[in-house]
Amino acid sequence: IFPYYHIPLFPKITLLTSVPNNMYNKPMAIVYLSLGSNIGDRVGYIQQATSLLSSNPNINIVATSSFYETEPWLMSTDNWFVNAVVQISTTLAPEELLKECQRIECQLGRPTNRTGEYSDRTIDIDIIFYDNVIMNNDILTIPHKYFHKRGFMLVPMLEIAEDFVHPFFGKT
Ligand code: AMP
Repeated sequence: IFPYYHIPLFPKITLLTSVPNNMYNKPMAIVYLSLGSNIGDRVGYIQQATSLLSSNPNINIVATSSFYETEPWLMSTDNWFVNAVVQISTTLAPEELLKECQRIECQLGRPTNRTGEYSDRTIDIDIIFYDNVIMNNDILTIPHKYFHKRGFMLVPMLEIAEDFVHPFFGKT
């Protein structure tokens, strides 16, 4: 009567591939990154940085804003920037993510000897938000301390996360 009675209750199952780094057992954070470039193939550098981020098994790209051309801010340079904001999900802790961003900056030709002054750069990757984390130590300030003052972060962010509430200021 029951047409499928002959299907075995426990059919054989074999594992073919395993999930890299056991990603799904770790908590995932939603993070917004600001990407900017003001020398060379600016759009290309942002695209390469996005693709390098996505090639990390612990990072997924969720959304990418449009690209914007922006005037240099607090910098003595004539080279305008191309900026974008990327939303990722990641199992990396904030410090690990910063290291990965800095590794990608180096890979794309950004000099490591930083004087603290703003200078032309092939790529700059900043962490704007990491979930609702608020932190301030020697290496990281999250939310990014200038986010609310920088149109080049605010405008692309608005495009991909208009309802996001700033964890410190409590405003969208
Ligand atoms: P930058 O020149 O913009 O790449 O920033 C240089 C330094 O800013 C890095 O060495 C970081 O340790 C520090 N930093 C502080 N907060 C952040 C943040 N939210 N995202 C990225 N870098 C940060």
